Amino acid sequence: MIFGIDAGGTLIKVAYAKNGTLQFTKFPIAEIEKVASWVNEQSESRVCITGGKAGVLLSLLNKKAKEIMEFEATHLGVKFLLERMGRVEDSYLVTNVGTGTSIHCIENNRQERIGGTGVGGGTLLGLSHLLTGVTNYEEIVRMAGTGSRDRIDLKVKHIYEGKEPPISGELTASNFGNNLFSVAAELSREELLAAVLGLVGETVSTVSVHAAKQCGVSTIIYIGSSFFENPLLKEVVTSYTVLRGAQPLFLENGEFSGAVGALSLV
Ligand code: ADP
Repeated sequence: MIFGIDAGGTLIKVAYAKNGTLQFTKFPIAEIEKVASWVNEQSESRVCITGGKAGVLLSLLNKKAKEIMEFEATHLGVKFLLERMGRVEDSYLVTNVGTGTSIHCIENNRQERIGGTGVGGGTLLGLSHLLTGVTNYEEIVRMAGTGSRDRIDLKVKHIYEGKEPPISGELTASNFGNNLFSVAAELSREELLAAVLGLVGETVSTVSVHAAKQCGVSTIIYIGSSFFENPLLKEVVTSYTVLRGAQPLFLENGEFSGAVGALSLV
């Protein structure tokens, strides 16, 4: 068996080839020893590892493994997954919304990291927990999907009351910036979670659109486990990216880009 493993800050993503077919699986980082045992049990296996916790995983393996820098692995994986989707793209931006967010410009088959933000999937989990006590990712996403941000966020059109605003009135003027003091005690967990998700989605898409302009491209490929079964985050990111003049693309299995890139180098 051959393995490509991306050991990140929150999740370990594994791409492996079994009987000639590509398979994907993931584990929480707390289960790093279980992943190591699984790989150690396979005879005749070859492994390539990437990600911030690659060194920890390597130290738990009883066999030799290759290591590849995570930005290069992600770049190779994105190329592979794009082709698998039948897309031909030469120049584009990749925004990886993992625990944090990393942004890369791809041109002439080379990647350059051009920025990022500490607002990412970790912010979604952390702020959600602090504000509502909810800890589970699936529950946060499900509850956020039934909440409204109207009482929490301030939109441009709310400021320009009765007057045409100079920019789209639908843009958020201030996340969590509405007149919260009067309603704070009444806000439901669903409303708060929707607002946290909105903050994360709008921040990563806004930063990405600026980065795309700097890079001279209009397609932004969004990857990372923060989009996993998270239609609301995809919707927020899509509408904000389009509103600001770029084209979003969500890669199928995009959260496995790093693992797939590592697998291609085994
Ligand atoms: P990293 O490589 O830094 O671990 P990922 O791309 O795996 O980053 O994304 C991690 C984020 O994905 C988390 O911060 C969280 O928002 C989201 N996520 C998706 N599925 C899960 C899950 N089962 N458990 C925890 N977080 C999850």
